[in-house]
Amino acid sequence: MKQLRKDYFLEEYAFINSNTDFNFSSVINDVSDNKCLLCKPNSKTNELITLSSEISVKSENFIDSDVNDVSIENDLVKNYYIADPSHKKLSKLSVPRLHKLLSEVQTINKQMLSDNLKNIQIYANSGFLSSGNSIHNGFELINLPIISPTLKKEIELSKKSIFDLGICPICRIINFETGGPRQILSTVSFLAFCPWNSSHPFEFWIYPKSHQYSFTLIDDSELEDLAQILRSTLGGLDNVLNSPSYTIVFHNSLNEIDSEIHWHIEIIPQLSYNTGFDAGYGIFVNTLAPEKSAEILGKASRKELASLVGVV
Ligand SMILES: [Zn+2]
Ligand SMILES: [Zn+2]
Ligand SMILES: [Zn+2]
Repeated sequence: MKQLRKDYFLEEYAFINSNTDFNFSSVINDVSDNKCLLCKPNSKTNELITLSSEISVKSENFIDSDVNDVSIENDLVKNYYIADPSHKKLSKLSVPRLHKLLSEVQTINKQMLSDNLKNIQIYANSGFLSSGNSIHNGFELINLPIISPTLKKEIELSKKSIFDLGICPICRIINFETGGPRQILSTVSFLAFCPWNSSHPFEFWIYPKSHQYSFTLIDDSELEDLAQILRSTLGGLDNVLNSPSYTIVFHNSLNEIDSEIHWHIEIIPQLSYNTGFDAGYGIFVNTLAPEKSAEILGKASRKELASLVGVV
């Protein structure tokens, strides 16, 4: 089956080319070198590790770059790294530890907002293909002087969709995907599913079921629920692909009026190097239909959830 699938509401496409069986042996697995530059080897603390740094960055357009112009102020860029003290990947942490980690990420996110920092991005890199610390996974928060072009596009087209159809496109996607062939896992507050136009095998998204604008607005029971669905799906992904590299990206509303979006999380496995087709067209070739990814990942994630809650 070969299909060019367009996104639910964005001008984005994926080339679904799943006429052959997915070659699990082609996945580039993560390799640990057992050296961690983050922590002291014998520290016995159970407290989370929080590292922070700040730099100043000036955004400049080519045409504006005038050496005599000294009036443009630099923007303060803050960067945080929050990790569990153990050398466990996010996919191997207990749900209470992941809950604690997410809670700290939320606290720092709120602090950054109250410091009036804009364009805050939360993400995690796991594995060497996504430039992550292979033995010490953690979440990062950073702000930049410019809006993420990806998020800007999502916010604009979400607003257009609300104007045209009278409904939030992400609430619509939740209605489409709940109980469908691409659902992976559903909890009280969240839905995990492989998107219709997945760019990568086993790509999945986690959407809060209720219409919420920001990760900073969810309460503690929702945070615990998020820790459970994230841990189950990442654990499932790890079991299916034997430690793949992946990135986790949060898409939140901007810290500005009229810049809201139904917040969500996107998990993108990095299983191979990019190709000229990807770079040339800006369209990724996905060798596994999202329905098949969801079937495999759903089974593995449900098994993981069952073992986490002590059913098996
Ligand atoms: Zn470490
Ligand atoms: Zn919504
Ligand atoms: Zn998004």
